[in-house]
Amino acid sequence: MQCPVCLKNTWKNRGTQLIECASCKFVRAKDDYFLANFDEVYSDKYYQRGDYFNYEEEEKALKKNFTDRLHKISAYVASGNLLDVGCGYGYFLELARTRYKAAGVERNHQTAEKVAKRLDLEIFGGDFLEYTSPKKFDIITAFDVIEHVLNPKEFVAKCNTLTQTNGLLIIETGDIESVLARVQRDKWRLINPPEHLNYFSRKTLAALLASTSYEVLFVQRVPFWRTLRQIVFRSIKRDAGFISKLPNLLIPLNTYDLIFVGAKKCKSV
Ligand SMILES: [Zn+2]
Repeated sequence: MQCPVCLKNTWKNRGTQLIECASCKFVRAKDDYFLANFDEVYSDKYYQRGDYFNYEEEEKALKKNFTDRLHKISAYVASGNLLDVGCGYGYFLELARTRYKAAGVERNHQTAEKVAKRLDLEIFGGDFLEYTSPKKFDIITAFDVIEHVLNPKEFVAKCNTLTQTNGLLIIETGDIESVLARVQRDKWRLINPPEHLNYFSRKTLAALLASTSYEVLFVQRVPFWRTLRQIVFRSIKRDAGFISKLPNLLIPLNTYDLIFVGAKKCKSV
């Protein structure tokens, strides 16, 4: 498989589940993980003991994070059309629609329908690459999404086609070159293919964005809130009976391994 960042095709192993591009150092899951049944991976189970111990229990924590991110985004683009890709249960859209004319895309059809009904917003259910819109967006947001997609170059190119020139693309993802990821290696909590297929660093993400006519405006190492249950679930990477007995606490963290990136569309690809 060609490297989506530099388009070369020379890979070397990086730990037991990942490979690294020998040319640009982009990291991705080994080939076999790309053959997973993704309808199964992203069925309703995904939100319960998949990537999340219990996604609904994370609502308060996620909304605290999204309030912070929304504040940062609005410093760059104060109004206009916003598209949230991978909108999940719509927690970000619920906040964003107070400022922007908001719409969403969600891979899971039933989740998309539920969110559309609950928030009375336009939510496309299905693969983002199949989404079309008569209007161009001023902002596209993708929180914890790019690590999941089969081809991140196609993903960013699709964002480009849906965005006004000078429009903003916001991406939040893990940083495989962060100190924590390098120290923990295979044990880093964000290594969980086939859910996470792509593992960017500031450098490889900037290179990908540049190759799709985006200019990086900022990269921040952002703090985040999580529930205690989610933290434990992610740390041990499995469901254990005691997790649901833990108190429902919200905890602020900064592990310096998440990057929040804003980029401006320079021209159409
Ligand atoms: Zn490469």
